[in-house]
Amino acid sequence: MKDIKIEQIIRSSRKTIALEVTDRATLIVKAPYLVSNKTIDEVIQRHSEWIKKRISNAKTTKKVSEKEFVSGESFLYLGRTYKLFLVKEQKEVLKFDNGFYLRGDQKPFARDIFILWYKNAARSLILERVSYYSTLTGIKYNNVKITSAMKRWGSCSQKGNLSFTYRLIMAPLPVVDYVVVHELCHILEHNHSRAFWEHLRVILPDYKEHRKWLRENGQLLYL
Ligand SMILES: [Zn+2]
Repeated sequence: MKDIKIEQIIRSSRKTIALEVTDRATLIVKAPYLVSNKTIDEVIQRHSEWIKKRISNAKTTKKVSEKEFVSGESFLYLGRTYKLFLVKEQKEVLKFDNGFYLRGDQKPFARDIFILWYKNAARSLILERVSYYSTLTGIKYNNVKITSAMKRWGSCSQKGNLSFTYRLIMAPLPVVDYVVVHELCHILEHNHSRAFWEHLRVILPDYKEHRKWLRENGQLLYL
């Protein structure tokens, strides 16, 4: 393909060719050792529409810059941004009161402190939302875990164990609910079949709007 640039071809003992568009809007090809470049080109050709769409999405996705944990910097919590204030004297290392108050001497550990705060907030909110929707729908789950997953918002095991990344707590509540209900519906359907989306639609008729929000803004939910 002339108009699709391959950043890297990674050869390994894998059995199939996989195409991956990175956040930097480049294409990475994972291929078995013995597959020829011609075959790779053919696969790219065949999926060129998909690749072009992904590349254009990656280019327009909003990027988030690394946090510095300085006074005045903004942090997301339930879809709203709050300012960080470094304070001299305070009992807690990090306090939330319509803004984040971090004790100045804790700055070197700010990232870990924030993650811990987000994890605790995510745990109490998500447990409550899962339980709410489980009661509402009668879908029974086993347990709920909060993870630090970077790529997945949530998952559901065959045994009905649900996990959610703490990063969700940065998203608006309806988006958190969308992911919660999405994973609960996987207890009924362990796939993304038509039946799965139909379950989801019955519980959350406007789920598409929240799924779209997550696609467009998911990149912002990072520290
Ligand atoms: Zn799913």
